[in-house]
Amino acid sequence: MPIDTLQTTEWLRQLVCIDSVNPDLDPSGAGEREAAHWLAAACRTIGLEVEVHEVAPGRCNTIARWRGSGGGKSLLLTGHIDTVSLKDMVGDPLDARIEGDWMYGRGTYDMKGGVVAALSAVDALKREGFTPAGDLVLGFVCDEEYASIGMEHLVTKVRADAAILTEPTDDRVIIAHKGFAWLTLTTRGVAAHGSRYDLGADAIRAMGNLLHTLDGMERDILPRRTHALLGRPSVHASLIQGGLGLSTYPDACTLRIEHRLLPDERGDVLLDLWRDALADWQARDASFRGEVTLDFTREGYELPADHAIVRAVQDGLVRVNGAELPVGGVPFWMDSAILGAAGIPTVTFGPTGEGAHAAVERVSLASVFRSAAVLAEAARAWCG
Ligand SMILES: [Zn+2]
Repeated sequence: MPIDTLQTTEWLRQLVCIDSVNPDLDPSGAGEREAAHWLAAACRTIGLEVEVHEVAPGRCNTIARWRGSGGGKSLLLTGHIDTVSLKDMVGDPLDARIEGDWMYGRGTYDMKGGVVAALSAVDALKREGFTPAGDLVLGFVCDEEYASIGMEHLVTKVRADAAILTEPTDDRVIIAHKGFAWLTLTTRGVAAHGSRYDLGADAIRAMGNLLHTLDGMERDILPRRTHALLGRPSVHASLIQGGLGLSTYPDACTLRIEHRLLPDERGDVLLDLWRDALADWQARDASFRGEVTLDFTREGYELPADHAIVRAVQDGLVRVNGAELPVGGVPFWMDSAILGAAGIPTVTFGPTGEGAHAAVERVSLASVFRSAAVLAEAARAWCG
């Protein structure tokens, strides 16, 4: 599959030079409007039908369609165009400088390299004279790094028989990732002078009980569940607050915790688990007062390893690299869960690099070309 490496490098350089920092993460961030319009223009130059949707002020998605001739399966190639902050980076974060095979800069690896690989794959199929039977759609979304409002919007505009999310996977085919849940535990006490044990009730000591419960979950209960690609679920304490002064019984204590979940686990089940723990402590000590809220949760995702879109990407890898790699899972959450929940089976595959969210970020240009070739092979097999 002949990828235009000069064009691909220039596209990536131009896209990296555009500030698309997520403004919900860093208020000085530019948002995705300029990057979305740049992508729209690039998609028009290769002959696609383009729409830009302003999902929220300054927050844009780009959708580009290559209509199929009919009767084939449709495919969505998708990725996010927002990045994390430019602060604390070494050197100019937006200069897209190239040293050998590496392009440096914020978003090169996470994930403008994958976005441009998808664009370049469609360009290669266009130049080859390929005619898809099913629609081939590019969907570039805002806000993955914060609340995924872009992907939530995209799935209301695009239907597809499968999707390939081109997040950087270091050339691996990823079929599973974990979910997560944020909960707040609160214990209640009674404020009183530190000498008045007869009047005061210590909310922080009561929270110690719940930390003991969390310790038992993390040590004994959660390790009993394991997933072949994702390991075990986990829980940890994130933030704790409480107390009024050195000589005062604390009236309240709040603990924010995070659970990381296997694909078959749900956040609302955790709410029941913690309510049971609160009831247990209350049964042991009638003065114990506590409550729990589920603040935010995202489910994990898993696609069967024998799904046809997994096969299509693996076959593409064999054609481009000569061999496939074992399918894998990643511990962190991705937009693929939203695609999956919308009924679009999704596999994740993208370039190699390092430094996502770090002070030095870079992507291997050769891996961007390779990803583009694999995506083109997979799209030709799937949509043909
Ligand atoms: Zn990413």
